Amino acid sequence: MISSTDTVIIGAGPYGLSASAYLTKAGVPHQILGQPMHAWQNFMPPGMLLRSEPFASNLYSPCGGYTMEEYCRRNRLEYQPVGIRVPVEHFVDYGLWFQSQLVSHLRPVEVVDMRRKDGFFRLALGDNSTLVARRVVLALGLKGFAQTPPALQGLPRPYVVHSGEFGSLAWAKNKNVVIVGGGQSAIGLAALMREIGARVRLLVRGADVNWSGEPRTSRGIISRLLRARVGLGRGWDSNSPSSLLTSFLLSEYPVVFHMMDLQRRKRILETGWAPSGAWWLRNRVEGKIDILAQTEIRHAELKNGQMVLQIASGNEISCISADHVVLATGFKVDLARHCFISQEIRNSLSLVSGSPSLTGNFETNVRGLYVIGPAAALSFGPALRFVYGAKYAAPHLARHISRCFQEEAGNRVVPSQAIPSEPVEEHGGSGLRGQSIFPAPGSNAE
Ligand SMILES: Cc1cc2nc3c(=O)[nH]c(=O)nc-3n(C[C@H](O)[C@H](O)[C@H](O)COP(=O)(O)OP(=O)(O)OC[C@H]3O[C@@H](n4cnc5c(N)ncnc54)[C@H](O)[C@@H]3O)c2cc1C
Repeated sequence: MISSTDTVIIGAGPYGLSASAYLTKAGVPHQILGQPMHAWQNFMPPGMLLRSEPFASNLYSPCGGYTMEEYCRRNRLEYQPVGIRVPVEHFVDYGLWFQSQLVSHLRPVEVVDMRRKDGFFRLALGDNSTLVARRVVLALGLKGFAQTPPALQGLPRPYVVHSGEFGSLAWAKNKNVVIVGGGQSAIGLAALMREIGARVRLLVRGADVNWSGEPRTSRGIISRLLRARVGLGRGWDSNSPSSLLTSFLLSEYPVVFHMMDLQRRKRILETGWAPSGAWWLRNRVEGKIDILAQTEIRHAELKNGQMVLQIASGNEISCISADHVVLATGFKVDLARHCFISQEIRNSLSLVSGSPSLTGNFETNVRGLYVIGPAAALSFGPALRFVYGAKYAAPHLARHISRCFQEEAGNRVVPSQAIPSEPVEEHGGSGLRGQSIFPAPGSNAE
């Protein structure tokens, strides 16, 4: 079966769901593909607490009443905009509630192939159907971007696993686990694993773990005003007014980042938010977990069911062994790694070290192909690496697509060779009055 729609969103995480809510309101026929909140439900450890503050952990919609605050109120959960931690389970449940209320035209299928034909996108789906669309929005999160240090590449699972590959930590009970990395993911996992009975060591490159400062009660009026709204700031290093001002601009106006030259944007992304552990994890880690500082893994091998790591620390080389090595070594965007996107599209994409160069409307240089979420960070800044960035991305993208849709609606010409030879079903999403990009079945379809 082949069906068609104007716009397809691939990925039903916070970005995809928010974009869909705005497209629905704008009357743009569209489909959203993927299991809702899949990454948060399956690849985050149970018990994990969100690093973002509650006010920066919303999904966004043009209708009032679908915020984290409203979700908490309905479920009689404690809510404050800042200062309390949101468990990942609540965030998943909130996202699923948001979806059930605002995003009805979702198909929980994977896209296995996407190619371009006659100016349209043709998507092969996991349920063996095909969907044709004029526009595609990639909202794929961090999937496929896990970064592995050279010395640990090619080693077998489950001895070496990336932090983005698993949810439940039950397998770690009573095991010797080495966690590599000094950021929030590494430190949060170290705390959770120790608490379920793993023997954990943390290998960090720096002289020590870099803890973010506990937000101070600020005296200055500017600091107080800025601090109230900085989506990136709280919990990150934001105690000085100048870093607060920068955080404020980058959180609220990602367009400011988009206007900067490439070198400056790269510098901000690489140096602005160094890996650190949130202050509220400190008492669960310090004095409880062995932290091996200033270390670099030179070599790793599997010997008799144990991972043996050769570690350099200053001039000293030592060996440690573990049942499992967990790489909390971050993610690096590289759109070329998404194999479901045809080679032809990937070859045409203009990428800067793997990140797409996006227009001010989130469009790539492949006409009709858009990217939102962490993969858009090189164009729109650090906010896009977090849920908070959807506050800007979703309405902005929807306004642009809606404008294009309205302009095209009057004089829509469908190239005959683009019309599928199989039956065509129009998918617009419930309650949408927009036109299909294809004629109704029977009118022009073969
Ligand atoms: C351990 C960890 C903790 C984090 N904590 C926070 C936090 O506290 N606050 C915060 O703001 N950010 C946090 N982040 C960053 C967060 O992951 C991103 O900000 C957020 O998920 C981006 O939302 P998204 O919708 O772009 O991606 P996702 O939520 O990852 O959604 C993308 C979806 O696309 C789906 N998908 C991918 N390929 C396909 C395909 N071919 N077909 C169909 N579907 C597909 C995926 O399955 C996934 O469900 C954290 C990240 C990690 C790794």
